[in-house]
Amino acid sequence: MTTEPLGELNLPHRQLLGPGPSNVHPRVYRAMMQPVIGYLDPVFIQLMDDTQRPLRTAFRTENDMTMAISGTGTAGMEAAIYNITEPGDNVIVCMNGFFGTRMADMAKRCGATVFPVEAEWGRIIEPEQISKALKKAGRVKAVMIVHGETSTGILQPLEEISRITHEAGALLLVDAVTSLTGCELRIDDWGIDVCYSATQKCLSGPPGMAPLTVSEAAMKVVQSRKEPVASFYVDLNILGRYWGGGTTRMYHHTPPMTMLYALREGLRIVLEEGIEARIVRHKRNADALTAGLNAMGMTLHAQEGYRLPPLTTVSVPDGVDERKLRQGLLDEHNIEVGGGIGDLAGKIMRIGLMGYNSTPQNVLGLLFALETELLKHGVGLDKGAGVAASVRFYDEN
Ligand SMILES: *Cc1c(COP(=O)(O)O)cnc(C)c1O
Repeated sequence: MTTEPLGELNLPHRQLLGPGPSNVHPRVYRAMMQPVIGYLDPVFIQLMDDTQRPLRTAFRTENDMTMAISGTGTAGMEAAIYNITEPGDNVIVCMNGFFGTRMADMAKRCGATVFPVEAEWGRIIEPEQISKALKKAGRVKAVMIVHGETSTGILQPLEEISRITHEAGALLLVDAVTSLTGCELRIDDWGIDVCYSATQKCLSGPPGMAPLTVSEAAMKVVQSRKEPVASFYVDLNILGRYWGGGTTRMYHHTPPMTMLYALREGLRIVLEEGIEARIVRHKRNADALTAGLNAMGMTLHAQEGYRLPPLTTVSVPDGVDERKLRQGLLDEHNIEVGGGIGDLAGKIMRIGLMGYNSTPQNVLGLLFALETELLKHGVGLDKGAGVAASVRFYDEN
């Protein structure tokens, strides 16, 4: 039997303007070409320390336990939930989008009783809802909530919820996969106990590492568990000895070092730009996109005043096949945007402007491409109005 030789891998360079992955910064790709070295090599251990420091800066925390889980954002979610939750615990999970639902699934797998707090997909959770749920549930181990809901485009305010949560003696666990370095996020000032993210959203790296930070109070809870963590891979009691062990580091699993180089470089870029400036950039480009979409007669899906700058959700005009529209953007313009998931499938598009991708060039290019495709679908449009409104916004802001 003869086997056809495999051709050289030659993938297209897409503009990834969806819910993630987003485009990888060229400097991150370059860092990833560094040689793989041993996980106990002093050079590698230094590199881990060097990555933990800027990670604390990005999270705005002094937490000792600030590291990265080997795996995607979902692995970060598992690390957070599996370490905190034990069989028999009561937890409150905020469910106003796809990822809140996933958190509830994981908490149940850990044997917890989940008290859901729900809101329509596209609206925030109100602090009073948490107060009510806390009263109903009695003793609660943790409140779990998504900061930037990538499925709906909502940026959830957390300060008041944190206050209420701690008053009830519970821990606050936050998903910041899409918000880290794209939105204001203050772990220590806001009293967040456990928070995780991922490399492929606003950190401009490929998927594969999940930054995680855990407060001292939450680590005490992890250390005084009655039952071992149901997952060996993300058990912070063992894993913590590798990340926090100084010279006494112990083997737990082989970290994907190449991904750590990527995270380090992504963080270096964040610090060079400055976190404040980066947040302002994400907001400015999202607002310019919004100005353009509005001028094209399109309506945004997420509740006004609570929109997530790295990810904008927009309703698909009546009579337009959302799949075909996105296919047109990909085939004709090389641009990927996301479709709606769950309850929002077919109804919205999700436009990501994350990290390296949050630029005026991407905003204007997308508006032009979208206009071209919408015209093909027979949508009545004022030609050029979207791009013009966006340019005007940039002029004035
Ligand atoms: C992308 C995302 C995740 C999941 O991350 P993966 O890297 O796909 O595993 C979790 N939460 C939110 C809010 C996300 O946007």
